[in-house]
Amino acid sequence: MEGSSKTLLQVKNLSKKYLIKKQLLKKEFFYAVDNVSFYINQNETVGLVGESGSGKSTIGKLILKLIKKDEGEILFKGKDIYSFSRKEEKIFRKETSIVFQDPRTSLNPRMKIFQILEEPLIVHGFPKKERIKKVKKTIVDAGLDETFLDRYPSELSGGQRQRVAIARAIILEPDLIVADEPTSALDVSVQLQIINLINRLKTEKNISFLFISHDLNVVGLLSERIVVLYKGKIMEQGDGKKIIKNPLHPYTKLLIESLPPDHPSKRKDLEHIPETFREEIPGGCKFYSRCPIAQEICKKEPSYKKIDNREVYCHLV
Ligand code: SF4
Repeated sequence: MEGSSKTLLQVKNLSKKYLIKKQLLKKEFFYAVDNVSFYINQNETVGLVGESGSGKSTIGKLILKLIKKDEGEILFKGKDIYSFSRKEEKIFRKETSIVFQDPRTSLNPRMKIFQILEEPLIVHGFPKKERIKKVKKTIVDAGLDETFLDRYPSELSGGQRQRVAIARAIILEPDLIVADEPTSALDVSVQLQIINLINRLKTEKNISFLFISHDLNVVGLLSERIVVLYKGKIMEQGDGKKIIKNPLHPYTKLLIESLPPDHPSKRKDLEHIPETFREEIPGGCKFYSRCPIAQEICKKEPSYKKIDNREVYCHLV
């Protein structure tokens, strides 16, 4: 999918592969991310959804240069992130940020909340007076108050810790935040609070989010556009509301069926999607082994079709 003048981040034919077998002249690779293209506009939330092992967290790390790509391009504000000068690299680090799944492990247990929030400001050379001012303002922006600054992460609830992690992610006023399963370690009621917080910050601070989750219901609550991944490949992407209301790809349909939105208590894990136990065909559709409607043609890889303002990768749609 091509972006426009409003595009903040453009991912083009991105791949990440790992060597799994090496014999004399032959090498075999596993593609964790396979020829993926999508974009994120300014002040937009894009949901990246898929089961564990679908490559969604790998994409988040590739975008922030936490791991190296193998093929493709990642453009931030129109420039290839691998062609940055030192100065541009530093600006990129300031303008992008990440929130991890579990704040118990992402926050240093030996540091008080004040120090945790102050650290990125020290790295980027903010003077002491400004650091104090920013830390005090940001903790309030994240829905807590100044009394939390004197506490350790272990003294906070899961939801409060995730608010601190979000405060740390926004303190440098980034343009893009990768939120990697930020709600999946939290209770359902706390999940909603964090989703509301992310929505508020997006509007108030003009931040774009790549929201990574295995839960299509959660993704549907805050994403303008959704990208559905399966085994490193995009199955369907486009308008979030349309995808939730009228999924076109057989995999997206199964995801929706497995998560009845009106009965959260009956939610099933994505792993419960029925297995059809058909053998995987190298070079064929990635969903072939589990697809309930697969046919002979599916042994060849589908190219994308543009339908109803969406991209769908399926021969039979
Ligand atoms: Fe199923 Fe075939 Fe479509 Fe793949 S291309 S999702 S196997 S119908």
